[in-house]
Amino acid sequence: MSIRQNLDAIRKTLPGDVSLVAVSKTKGKQQILEAYEAGQRDFGENKIQEMQEKYEALPKDIRWHMIGHVQRNKVKYMAPYVALIHGVDSLKLLREIDKKARQCKRVIPCLLQVHIAREETKFGFDETELQDLIASEVIRNLSHIRIEGLMGMATFTEDTQVIRAEFRYLKTLFDQLQGQLPDLRVLSMGMSGDYRIAIEEGSTMVRIGSSIFGARTQE
Ligand SMILES: *Cc1c(COP(=O)(O)O)cnc(C)c1O
Repeated sequence: MSIRQNLDAIRKTLPGDVSLVAVSKTKGKQQILEAYEAGQRDFGENKIQEMQEKYEALPKDIRWHMIGHVQRNKVKYMAPYVALIHGVDSLKLLREIDKKARQCKRVIPCLLQVHIAREETKFGFDETELQDLIASEVIRNLSHIRIEGLMGMATFTEDTQVIRAEFRYLKTLFDQLQGQLPDLRVLSMGMSGDYRIAIEEGSTMVRIGSSIFGARTQE
């Protein structure tokens, strides 16, 4: 199947209110252009330098999503153009994004990453940290970031009950925060292996790589 065919097949299964981020990490510009020509405009990358190179070389109406872990000293490179930062996992990082966004005279949309998986290695806030952050005065003074939602990754497992429970939990947190965060509207959850479950559990944005571009040989 071609990239276009894969995209078409996935789009058919997505409800109208669920948006698709095509995860193009490790994939070449030609493959991204193929998806672009099939109408895709939102692409996700997890390494700043790779995203930067692609941003410079590819059409300027592409919306670049940073879906990976972000180091504070790298924020400056993406601040001028990044469309949405999915992996915000500390107040320090939020402050740095605010600072660099201010210098670029823009407001950068961000998602707070929540740790929902059983694995230790996945980044993100836990429920208490999330509540503390949102209750804090500090984030109200950050005028150049906009917290638009939450992002989470389920445990890497075959057990769909575990995955479903984790997504359901994230959706519960999302619903609880409605009213506390005025711009909350994005719930970024679901990848190639689990996006159908994520949608059933209330996802509004799926991040799909290998089902569009084929398996990755490197990470
Ligand atoms: C790589 C990646 C994806 C896409 O994974 P696939 O299984 O290829 O769909 C989604 N989200 C994040 C955060 C990723 O790093």
